[in-house]
Amino acid sequence: MSRLKNKVALVTGAGRGIGAAIARAFAGEGASIVLAELDGASAEATAREIANDYAEIQTLAVQTDVTLAASVRRAVEAAERAFGQVDVLVNNAGINVFADPLSMTEEDWRRCFAVDLDGVWNGCRAVLPGMVERGAGSIINIGSTHSFQIIPGCFPYPVAKHGVIGLTRALAIEYAAKNVRVNAIAPGYIETQLTRDCWNSQPDAEAARKATLDIPPMKRVGQPEEVAMTAVFLASDEAPFINASCITIDGGRTALYHD
Ligand code: NDP
Repeated sequence: MSRLKNKVALVTGAGRGIGAAIARAFAGEGASIVLAELDGASAEATAREIANDYAEIQTLAVQTDVTLAASVRRAVEAAERAFGQVDVLVNNAGINVFADPLSMTEEDWRRCFAVDLDGVWNGCRAVLPGMVERGAGSIINIGSTHSFQIIPGCFPYPVAKHGVIGLTRALAIEYAAKNVRVNAIAPGYIETQLTRDCWNSQPDAEAARKATLDIPPMKRVGQPEEVAMTAVFLASDEAPFINASCITIDGGRTALYHD
């Protein structure tokens, strides 16, 4: 499997969940992987797993806080020192901030935007100069079905995730002529710690989980690997004319009319 052979990919929030699945899938396709993650220990652990599974793959774990432009820049510089360049960036790190708009604290608003939107921009800002100079690059931003639809009680997460799509489209157009593609993926419910924490925050976690499985047409949630497969495609040379797009991975849930 060598769809990403000779490419260097930097994945934010790669210590667990969707980011870790993307890092593994990229490694399985031959890419060198930089795991830029807030929790340095989980980044190291995922890097070790990848090294065990794919002896020929090079990995680098860099403790990174995507809310800080300088931290992301340092991760990109470390990647460039280790591997020469960054060909693929996946802005995956994200957090849920779900609150009532009027009782939400200022701190919650800022935390949500710092990770979910500034974090994406910080990643793009750090890799774009190199990509533009080389005339090649693929940036994949992880949005959400909340990028298009509103679920009551989830404010302000969908505001930031709508912004991710706006940022994706704007940068995609700015740098299209330089052959830098910027696309997004909008996952629906994917079974990760983020989702389990969400279920567990409800008074009846099991009922919350069952309710989630009841709504989607396929009667299940997705798995991180199902998002990773699409990230591989967008990162690869199989998608050279896909730009400013967003691929929804939700088993059809957002197409379903609720009465
Ligand atoms: P997880 O919480 O399982 O993983 C997110 C990872 O991002 C964690 O490793 C976390 O580190 C890291 N992270 C958080 N803040 C920062 C930061 N400031 N800097 C660097 N890394 C950070 O989430 P998922 O895998 O479920 O989600 C990944 C992405 O997918 C997010 O953008 C999310 O919004 C999006 N998404 C997820 C869906 C789902 O159902 N799971 C649905 C739609 C979208 P730490 O563990 O240290 O906090």
